[in-house]
Amino acid sequence: MKRLEELVRPNILRLAPYSSARNEYSGHEAHVFLDANENPYNKPYNRYPDPLQVEVKEKIASLKGVAPEKIFLGNGSDEAIDLAYRCFCRPGIDNVVAIEPTYGMYKVCADINDVEYRPVLLDEHFQMNAGKLLAACDNNTKLIWICTPNNPTGNSLSRKEILRVLESFQGIVIVDEAYSDFAAEEPLRHQIGTYPNLIILNTMSKAWGCAAIRLGMAFADTAIIEIFNKVKYPYNVNLLTQQRALEILNDPYEVEEWVRILLQERSRLMDAFKLLPSCQKVYPTDANFFLAKMKDAQAIYDYLVERGIIVRNRSRISLCNDCLRITIGNKSENNELLSALRQW
Ligand SMILES: *Cc1c(COP(=O)(O)O)cnc(C)c1O
Repeated sequence: MKRLEELVRPNILRLAPYSSARNEYSGHEAHVFLDANENPYNKPYNRYPDPLQVEVKEKIASLKGVAPEKIFLGNGSDEAIDLAYRCFCRPGIDNVVAIEPTYGMYKVCADINDVEYRPVLLDEHFQMNAGKLLAACDNNTKLIWICTPNNPTGNSLSRKEILRVLESFQGIVIVDEAYSDFAAEEPLRHQIGTYPNLIILNTMSKAWGCAAIRLGMAFADTAIIEIFNKVKYPYNVNLLTQQRALEILNDPYEVEEWVRILLQERSRLMDAFKLLPSCQKVYPTDANFFLAKMKDAQAIYDYLVERGIIVRNRSRISLCNDCLRITIGNKSENNELLSALRQW
């Protein structure tokens, strides 16, 4: 890995971050807060929230097995994705490499930040090849995007190939583990101590059932987390989100139960798809969704919409010709989908 100072944009390296009222005071027991132009009425919403979300991070640290100082929290993982560009990539100069197909936000954020995006096609089993990714890099490649289990394909990527990229690439490798709670394999986040160039993304939006509160996380070496903290909006995670997150994080057993049921429903739904005359192939998955190759995905998609059932049409994505991406719902939702498809 290059030195972090060579990877971070020079303006970000030099940046003196905004210092909020709550950042500047520390230590003393205080009870009169006249420093932030807040309104004394309308408690508790009158006060700015904790800018570094200390309490939430402590809870996540114990659940995820990652030290609090190696955690960044954002307004969804989407904030961490955008921050990676803003911290490391000089607009119009630097580039990033990513597996293809994958989650669409990596490219959207590249375009917004005027950073060249270099997609590298997976093979016909949706597997990545480290050599191919590395061959797409040059001296201005700052980030490599990997997503495992991958969206929209659902499969986990070869751990061996990911580690080869981590060991050979001179820049930052971002591994999005949004769906790792549904996968059998041990998550890569436990390796952040071994790889100073590794950033792991996680989210409350999937297994944790909290897409509405917008809470995403990045796990990385403290040096990278400090850069993210410097660049983020001072109060990027609002009080309501922090409160709701603490409540749900205190009840992880409910999440385990959801995951267990979803995995059961996933195999039931996939088995049923394999028997549908309209389905050509069901791809293996480690996530709470699966990809199915259909006969005329567009027509089936339109038919389902007509019946008020929305799946994701991925048929125009590379390697996903005629594919629909099916999220696992509850039993009655899954049954409704199946009975509609049986009538197709
Ligand atoms: C759904 C998803 C996310 C979640 O993004 P949030 O902004 O945290 O809701 C992140 N990465 C991937 C690959 C996803 O599919």
